[in-house]
Amino acid sequence: MELPLGIRRITTPLPTRPGHVHSYLLPGGDGWTLVDTGIGLPDAQEVWAASLGDAEVARIFITHFHPDHVGAAADVAELTAAPVSQGKLDYSQCELVWGNDEWPRRIADWFLTHGVPEEITEELIGSGNVYRPFIRYQPNPELVDDGDRLDGWELVAAPGHADGQLCLVKDRVLVSADHLLGRITPTVGLWPESRPDPLGDYIESLKRTIELAPEIALPGHGDPIADPVGRAHDLIEHHRERLDFTESTLGDLPRTGYDVSLDLFGAQLKPASRRFAVAETLSHLERLVLEERAERSGDVGVVTYTARQLGRRASA
Ligand SMILES: [Zn+2]
Repeated sequence: MELPLGIRRITTPLPTRPGHVHSYLLPGGDGWTLVDTGIGLPDAQEVWAASLGDAEVARIFITHFHPDHVGAAADVAELTAAPVSQGKLDYSQCELVWGNDEWPRRIADWFLTHGVPEEITEELIGSGNVYRPFIRYQPNPELVDDGDRLDGWELVAAPGHADGQLCLVKDRVLVSADHLLGRITPTVGLWPESRPDPLGDYIESLKRTIELAPEIALPGHGDPIADPVGRAHDLIEHHRERLDFTESTLGDLPRTGYDVSLDLFGAQLKPASRRFAVAETLSHLERLVLEERAERSGDVGVVTYTARQLGRRASA
């Protein structure tokens, strides 16, 4: 496939859906900038040696700390001897989640406070520990931030799918990572230690994409996006509808994020998928609280939500 500006794409397999992830090679005067590294499967170094051939990698850039993007960073850094750059906020979350043995327990306890049954949270701890060996991030990378430049590309913050996610833009080409995907709706979840309003962040990031007016977006999964501005508008509309639906599930009786996730995503999810469903539900519930369309109560150790009732406070 012919990509703009002489960009090359390398696709590596994922053991879970969507089954693949894209990395991109951006040409530059001193060699290629490699964007993202795929997951750190045991043969990552051999796969990358074969994919890169004789391409000279001058630097590696990580868009966000999710396993399918950061996982093989240390392998590729060792293979190419290229320095790794990663966003400042993103790297702090990367260390918090992947460099911290306490994290699986922490996240399980957090899900318990949102009403997730214990058999699901216990399975999450187990599966979290299975995943960890496949995430080999590069310690002490060069830290970069929104507005910085990387070999002629501008870094653009796109919080939402991940708080610290950075995209790259040049000549109206957007390397969008998981901020903008073609057929898949990027997950936007609330997580412990995450920014308080990921869905609000995401909608603002989409508006910023519309202002940037890229002509093509190169995503982390799926085909290049020929109409990134149209896609951004569609995603804003999608979340507007999901917010309305989430609001419609609330009433006078307190409901947890887990309860509401059963209405939004159905009851038949495996624990790994339920985790994303609850996190996504919570990002919508928190946005509704901020828009004064829902109320949160968390004073008995379990966080619950009710419909906003105008005048309730005044009459109480
Ligand atoms: Zn991804």
